[in-house]
Amino acid sequence: MADFSDIIGQNQMKEHMQNALSTGKVSHAYIISGENGSGKEYIAKTFAKALQCQHRSEKGDYEEACNECPSCIKAESDSHPDIITIGHEKPNSIGVDDIRLKLRDDVIIKPYESDYKIYIIPEGEKMTVAAQNALLKTLEEPPSYIVIIILTNNLNAFLPTIISRCIVLPVKPVRDDMIRKFLMEEKRVVDYKAAICASFARGNVGKALDLASNEDFINLKDSAVELISKIDNLEIHSMMDRVHLLLEPPKEEEEDEEEDEEKPKKKRKAKDNGADTDKEKTKTASKAAAGSALENFFDILYFLYRDILVYKATEDDAHLIFTDKLSYIRSAIKKYTYEDVNTIIKSLETARNRIRANVNTDLTLELMLLDIKEAGHIR
Ligand SMILES: [Zn+2]
Repeated sequence: MADFSDIIGQNQMKEHMQNALSTGKVSHAYIISGENGSGKEYIAKTFAKALQCQHRSEKGDYEEACNECPSCIKAESDSHPDIITIGHEKPNSIGVDDIRLKLRDDVIIKPYESDYKIYIIPEGEKMTVAAQNALLKTLEEPPSYIVIIILTNNLNAFLPTIISRCIVLPVKPVRDDMIRKFLMEEKRVVDYKAAICASFARGNVGKALDLASNEDFINLKDSAVELISKIDNLEIHSMMDRVHLLLEPPKEEEEDEEEDEEKPKKKRKAKDNGADTDKEKTKTASKAAAGSALENFFDILYFLYRDILVYKATEDDAHLIFTDKLSYIRSAIKKYTYEDVNTIIKSLETARNRIRANVNTDLTLELMLLDIKEAGHIR
């Protein structure tokens, strides 16, 4: 059940919506903006459900939907006739016909059973200029009962005339400690893993959730730290072999011929539930949100050396991210001077920038690993 009390952080947004619910002063158009994975859909659905509920009441700090009335039950199962999500035919654009047929021609029909008729437009940044102009017509003369909630990861994609007619509610990054608490308490993620995922997610709750359930990420972290801990004894070619191995994309398609008995079982179970396509979708979305293995590899090294600096300065593990790698971090603070660690962090940044600028990946990684190896030696 999506409730306001389940939305982590976002106090300003919640305050605004709560105010609309309690005073009845609901705007005809909102834009909820935030990066992918930041919870825009969840927030929009929570607001829509609460608006439509006939038996809202104060629960804790919030005025919440009752979650029991027919309206709430339909809203939860995405089958509410007066909460309409605008899909689009083409994957990469929302065309003028999508907006005309599904929104502009539809708003004239009064709500079937509720006070409001709510339209949610996910991926609003994909609206073409023509589609936005069609939407503008409705925004200029909205029927009293309509509420349009546009979701977007890019406010710059909108015509100024659209933005000026909407209340823009940005999704703010959530503090690491709140994400960590959420992962541990609500999702039963173990403490060190929750801390790592929270740090890597940089305020994005969806990304933290994806990372926490992403075995590839956890394996990548372990292999990367192992590589660094053994770097003194490795020649450059075997370092690169290890790097290639750990950056290899996961082999989903080979699952069928897996000798591991666990995996096919899981797969069958998913099919039985008819959840296969959903599962695939989640997987793809999860991968996109979790970022590429290479980006994560850089982040892992960066956080590792950040931990080494912190531990070197404080000898206190309370502020470490990789608390599960304490024995390596302890040995590393003896090996590296502050200057060494700063040199390595600079080298990591240079390498990441080079790769983003399309310089040869292998060559860049080789130079970076040699920098790391040498930093521990030169005195
Ligand atoms: Zn209700």
